[in-house]
Amino acid sequence: MFKSAVFNLKDAGKDQVQEFLNSFDTVLCDCDGVLWIDNNAIPGSADTMNYFRKIGKQIFFVTNNSTKIRGDFAIKAQQLGFIANEDEILSTSYLVAHYLKSIGFKKKVYIIGSNGIGDELKAVGIRHIGIGPDHVKPDFKSMKSTDLDPEVGAVVVGFDEHISYPKFMKAASYLASDECLFLATNTDERFPKSSSIIVPGTGTLVRAVETCSERKALVLGKPNEYVRKFLESRGLDPARTLMIGDRCNTDIEFGVRCGFQTLLVLTGVTSTKGVEKIRNEKIAPLPDVILPKLGDLLTLVES
Ligand SMILES: [Mg+2]
Repeated sequence: MFKSAVFNLKDAGKDQVQEFLNSFDTVLCDCDGVLWIDNNAIPGSADTMNYFRKIGKQIFFVTNNSTKIRGDFAIKAQQLGFIANEDEILSTSYLVAHYLKSIGFKKKVYIIGSNGIGDELKAVGIRHIGIGPDHVKPDFKSMKSTDLDPEVGAVVVGFDEHISYPKFMKAASYLASDECLFLATNTDERFPKSSSIIVPGTGTLVRAVETCSERKALVLGKPNEYVRKFLESRGLDPARTLMIGDRCNTDIEFGVRCGFQTLLVLTGVTSTKGVEKIRNEKIAPLPDVILPKLGDLLTLVES
């Protein structure tokens, strides 16, 4: 009953809420904009996630954020009141490391990104370079082929607050070799905003590297289906899985592509107005069900 149209769970009766809860065994939940914004938990989210666990649901935290290692995400979640352990965190930094390890990658990785990616690579024994500032000195035209490391066999692009022109030059130059792999963590346009300042997301950097390298990255984060393949190898049943997110073009798109049931909450990027726009312009898939905030689900259960 929940598959064909957007249904606001707030309008559901007690039996329908119970039917909804019985319709999945596994919960995949996005983090930023659903569970927290920056370092502030969204009210009711922790209690609801902990309730899912209490009633026997398997839980995974699926985040496109690549700036932390899984252990740090677990600590952040715990500090904000969520029961969470490292094995349940599927961050794009971890997915990049897992992917390269799974294909037997032995060379070095050039990273446009942060320590989250570097530390996850290190944990699986893969060497890397590139993290931190790389300034133009004395000017960008002075870069030579000797500035490139011949051992590099992959370029990974994630969120990098130190992005610079030399980094783009190096990434594109490594990618001039067809043998060099090109991975990206995600293509989110922006971070969920908690103020009037727009923070450009990783997609901004991925598109720039794609443009100057004239290649397309293999994107491992949502909406790419890599997470489903990863979890299916561990027994996930897509038909009994719920994806919860705050963005239609990443989280809900991901859920639909993977054959999961989808729940959109309105505490992050996609607003009520955004849902209307998506409905009218068909620019992204619509969720099966919607809630103003994740915590509303527990209120419905307890009412
Ligand atoms: Mg989000």
